[in-house]
Amino acid sequence: MHTDDTIVAIATPAGRGGIGVVRLSGPDAQKIAMPLLRVKSPLQAGRAQFSELIDPADASKLDEVVVTYFAAPHSYTTDDVIEISAHGSPVLLRWIVEQSLAAGARLAEPGEFTLRAFLHGRLDLTQAEAVKDLIEAQTLTQAKVAAQQLDGALSRRIQPIKEKLIALIARLEAGVDFAEDDISVAPDAEILQSIAAVQDPLKTLEASFAYGRIVHEGLTLAIVGRPNVGKSSLFNRLVERERAIVTATPGTTRDLVSETVTLGDIPVKLMDTAGIRATQDEAESIGVAKSYEAMADADLILLVFDATTEHQSEDEQLLQAIGTRQAITILNKCDLDHINKGDEACFRTSAVTGEGIPELREKILTHFTHGMPELEHGFLTNVRHHEAIKKSIVALERAEIAVTRKIPHEMVLLDIYAALSELDEISGKTSADDILNTIFGSFCIGK
Ligand code: GDP
Repeated sequence: MHTDDTIVAIATPAGRGGIGVVRLSGPDAQKIAMPLLRVKSPLQAGRAQFSELIDPADASKLDEVVVTYFAAPHSYTTDDVIEISAHGSPVLLRWIVEQSLAAGARLAEPGEFTLRAFLHGRLDLTQAEAVKDLIEAQTLTQAKVAAQQLDGALSRRIQPIKEKLIALIARLEAGVDFAEDDISVAPDAEILQSIAAVQDPLKTLEASFAYGRIVHEGLTLAIVGRPNVGKSSLFNRLVERERAIVTATPGTTRDLVSETVTLGDIPVKLMDTAGIRATQDEAESIGVAKSYEAMADADLILLVFDATTEHQSEDEQLLQAIGTRQAITILNKCDLDHINKGDEACFRTSAVTGEGIPELREKILTHFTHGMPELEHGFLTNVRHHEAIKKSIVALERAEIAVTRKIPHEMVLLDIYAALSELDEISGKTSADDILNTIFGSFCIGK
């Protein structure tokens, strides 16, 4: 793929709208756009300007548009960029693109404007990924986190860690390469300390993924219990819509019904499951099996008991199946006479009157956010980043062991380079120059 030609694309979503934007990026952006425009004065960098859109064939007017010119390198891609905001007619927008293609532009590949911004060094990889996260955000919190990342928050957290690693590499490389010079080989205790100084912030960052994952991907909740305890009714209460089938005949929710809602700005996928009971009915037993699967997949289980009936053997079975998994025990139908009193830990609700529902929502949320940091800047939300950080920590652990076992520094270096290259995967490559500069900068070799 070239990065020095001029690309064009419709930047707004498909369909009709109040306005639609065509974006051109590349050295010929102006040359390609100008014949389509009738402007009162020449385009000025960083200015939006009113203009007429004209058919160059006969100079007839097609629309009234606003043209914005971003001169290189002060644009999204660092190329010359022209944005034409026309009325949001698909016919018109396509026509602008076709005219641009005929004049020498190339149709942009998906994400190519952001790719250029990355390749031209205006965005690093984490920032480019943040653009996608921002566009795809389902909650305002997700958007805020993406905006922080776009602002470089994650890179800013990783950068000092990388610098420490590079300093350590420089130190070890110097010891290896210039051993006969007057540079002393670093003592093992110091190296171990330097490794720990890199590991600590990496581990903190790694731990932030527990919260970041929830913000980014949301949670999965499974509502389980015997038939007829009120699972579907609770589900409906929680999703605030009539989505699951509610019926007075036990054993009718045979499939998993799921719905995503936002609780405290965290996307929560709620799964209503078939009632768990011993059954001869084939379809129903498939439902029961699915319920157990849903339980295994869930981040949190809402185990529902019925306040109007005695505790039964199925309830016991469920409790056992849940074992040590995260669960909230709910005693439903508490608007009716209590036969089952439940214990202290039980959460009392009525799906009919709505009693306890707001508290239940709150409880679900605090269950996850309890002890979590407030939106700290630059936490991990991305599985790919998380994997890289984990691998980097493991590589450093290997280095630590190698040092303790007095393995030559050449070998220790391999592990430390591996730790660095994992971090490079997140925020961009460290060049040999970065390392050499540190070596020569800090050791005054060749004095
Ligand atoms: P599921 O089989 O566990 O999903 O139970 P449903 O949600 O289908 O409810 C079974 C029956 O119990 C329905 O007739 C509901 O109206 C009723 N029900 C559910 N929750 C409550 C509650 O909190 N109080 C009362 N009085 N009835 C409830």
